Amino acid sequence: MLSTVIADWSHVRTWVFDLDETLYPPSAPLFPQIEARMVDWITSALGVGRGEADRLRAEWWATHGTTLAGLMHDHGVAPEPFLTEVHDIDFSVLTPDPDLRAAIAALPGRKVIFTNGTAPYALDVLRARGLDGLWDAIHGIEHAGHVPKPAPAAFDRVFARDGLTPRAAAMFEDSARNLRVPAERGVTTVHVAPTPAPAPHIHHHTADLTAFLRGILSTG
Ligand SMILES: [Mg+2]
Repeated sequence: MLSTVIADWSHVRTWVFDLDETLYPPSAPLFPQIEARMVDWITSALGVGRGEADRLRAEWWATHGTTLAGLMHDHGVAPEPFLTEVHDIDFSVLTPDPDLRAAIAALPGRKVIFTNGTAPYALDVLRARGLDGLWDAIHGIEHAGHVPKPAPAAFDRVFARDGLTPRAAAMFEDSARNLRVPAERGVTTVHVAPTPAPAPHIHHHTADLTAFLRGILSTG
């Protein structure tokens, strides 16, 4: 069966996907594990209590884009050991999603991942979801100079690394704030989340990524 993209999407040559809570449901208990490991790390590295460590973690995420970016800015922390430590979690809480796999595989053009996690972590997640082997590129935080989304420099570095043309790209993300810069660059944006967050930089919203991707294709 031949799939073609319906007119609204015929300009798209590169399909960019966030990883966390975009390619698996936000109900999957992955982030709580990572957050707990971050709190452990901050507690021992800075010698603060767990309550203070959790407050700092949340504050850095809000003001710097990621906990790591705040740790680097405020304490000069080296990124790699931190990233390895906090991503050493149990991936068996994720289940394979063959329907999502088929919907992504059917998209014509390049498919790439752009995550604020690392590329090795992304591979662990993709394997656990049965979504590995589909991707032309996996761009991790290490490829953005450890500058996270939503910072403009993160998008500019990763878009340049990928070689994509923003006006010929679509991006799928659960974090509405991470779609503002792509929209400014000309990317078509899709907010993937249980609840809509209407804003001028959100072009589409879906609570069901698989159904949305199927709707992009007309089969015949
Ligand atoms: Mg995400």
